Amino acid sequence: MTFDVSDRVDAVPPSGIRRFFELAEEQDDIISLGVGEPDFSAPWAARDAAIASLEQGKTSYTANRGRRELREQIADHVDRRYDLQYDPDEEILVTAGASEGIDLAYRALVDPGDTVAVQQPCYVSYVPGVIFAGGDVLPVRTHVEDEFKLTYEGLQESGAADAEVLVLCYPNNPTGATMTGDELEEVAEFAREHDLVVFSDEIYADLTYEHDHTSIATLPGMRERTVVFNGFSKAYAMTGLRLGYVLAPPEATTAMNRIHQYTMLSAPTTAQYAAIEALESCDDAVAEMKTQYDRRRQFVLSRFSEMGIDCFPAGGAFYAFPECPWDDADAFAEQLIEEQSVAVVPGSAFGEGGEGHLRVSYATGLDELKEAMARIEQFVK
Ligand code: PLP
Repeated sequence: MTFDVSDRVDAVPPSGIRRFFELAEEQDDIISLGVGEPDFSAPWAARDAAIASLEQGKTSYTANRGRRELREQIADHVDRRYDLQYDPDEEILVTAGASEGIDLAYRALVDPGDTVAVQQPCYVSYVPGVIFAGGDVLPVRTHVEDEFKLTYEGLQESGAADAEVLVLCYPNNPTGATMTGDELEEVAEFAREHDLVVFSDEIYADLTYEHDHTSIATLPGMRERTVVFNGFSKAYAMTGLRLGYVLAPPEATTAMNRIHQYTMLSAPTTAQYAAIEALESCDDAVAEMKTQYDRRRQFVLSRFSEMGIDCFPAGGAFYAFPECPWDDADAFAEQLIEEQSVAVVPGSAFGEGGEGHLRVSYATGLDELKEAMARIEQFVK
């Protein structure tokens, strides 16, 4: 017998990133600038807290929404950082990574036939998530000339006025773009005017190098229409612990929790203990990792400039998004792996507007980065 795969799954192609990882795996001496995860391990204090929780036998489920102590810590953190107040009982949901939060938001807040405007280029899960939920995707392109920022005009021209939801991500994966509060105000104005719900993925909020992160939820009239996704994967280098959270008004988190309580029950318990400690005592460790990323960022940007490769000054996350010196970025990336054993990801993997670019992750040690950039220079000579 053969399985009849659902139309929803059939409609989604496999991730464009995976193919490059598979190619890279076949190569010896590979330096991967392809992955979107920290090369650091989680800070020791967080790991110790996880270990201690296991030693104390804390291996049960937690409350569906997550341990209250963690939700209180998240509320304090968001209050201190952004002067935003969320009720730990009604407006915070702890999830298995930001990924689960994003999926829950689509399934809980998007009806079949709803239009979801998705910033492009973007993180690989946004478009499949809309399709799995039965929504219609409306791409909203951002452009290198605008440093990949969303603009009022761009939203207007793409037809986002008719959408129900707008999905955005700053600091951005794959471009490394950030937006200031003033710039985001244009987006907020558009959302208010056209009564859009905003899904704001702020997983890289702590990794900005030019200016502090502004959450779009802090802008007038936005908290009540925004679902914020955040988590511990990036700033705290905890990708494998799978822990994130959602901030949103009660009706939104209650709807998401309805799905979460049946499908996930609760986010990983051990990770929740690590996260409590991370919020309590790991600010310095996060700052130190950020300093390292910034050093690498400046190095990568200056090396591309020396090679005569255009690269806009990405100010956040841990990605540079240079223009590809060849017309065909897929062929460039493939041949770079084969000839120089350096893996980068072609921008087309991240949707419209990504073509002609390469995503170069600098979540890799400086020595390896130096070697990788030397190999790229050799390749483009
Ligand atoms: N959002 C963005 C923009 C990402 O780049 C990633 C991971 O690469 C995620 C979400 C996934 O985060 P998590 O590990 O918390 O599920």
